[in-house]
Amino acid sequence: MAGNVLILGIFAFLPPYWPQFENKTTLGKRKKTYISIIVFLTVVFLIPQNLKMPVKEATKSDYNPKSFWFYPWGKSVTHKGVDIFAKKGTEIKSSTSGLVLYSGEINMGGKIVLVLGPKWRLHYYAHLNELKTSSFSYVNNDSTIGTVGASGNAVGKSPHLHYSILTMVPYVWRIDSDRQGWKKMFYLDPIEYFE
Ligand SMILES: [Zn+2]
Repeated sequence: MAGNVLILGIFAFLPPYWPQFENKTTLGKRKKTYISIIVFLTVVFLIPQNLKMPVKEATKSDYNPKSFWFYPWGKSVTHKGVDIFAKKGTEIKSSTSGLVLYSGEINMGGKIVLVLGPKWRLHYYAHLNELKTSSFSYVNNDSTIGTVGASGNAVGKSPHLHYSILTMVPYVWRIDSDRQGWKKMFYLDPIEYFE
C-alpha cells in the first residue's frame, strides 16, 4: 500500500503535458525536465543493492526460512517480512545504502526505521529497542540504525527484528494465488537476499 501511495506521489509532481498550449522554449524546458526525471529514476534503479544481513552476527538459525508470507498472522493476515531473533540490544545495521525516510515510533511496529534504498525499494525495520539514526540522514550498509528489541505489538515476545522489503515499482509478475497474493507485487522476500 505504501508503495502505491509513493508512486502516485511521484506522478503528482510531474507537470501535465499539453504541447498545443506551449511555445517552443517552454516545450524545450519541459522536455529537459522530463528527461532529467527519467534519468534520475533510472539511475536510482541501477544502483547495486549489495544487501547485507541487518542483524549483527545473525545466521540462518536466527530466523525461520518459512517466515515470509506465514499464515495466519494476526491483524496483518500474512507475515510480510522476516523476523530475525537476537538478544535485546544487538546492533542493527542498515542492509543497504539509502535515505532514512523515517526514524520514530508507530503503533504496530513500535520503534521503526524506514530507509529508501537502491532500485526504489523501501526497507522497514521494526520493534527496535533503541533508534540510532534520524529521519532524512543518509546511511550505508555499515551504518548502525538501532538495536534489537520488542517494541510495538512485539511487547512481551522474544526480542527480534522484523524486516520487510517493499518495492515502489510493482512487480506484477510476482502475484500468485496465495492469501493476499496480489500484495506480493510490493513485498519482496528478504530471505532471498540473505543467501
Ligand atoms: Zn515480523
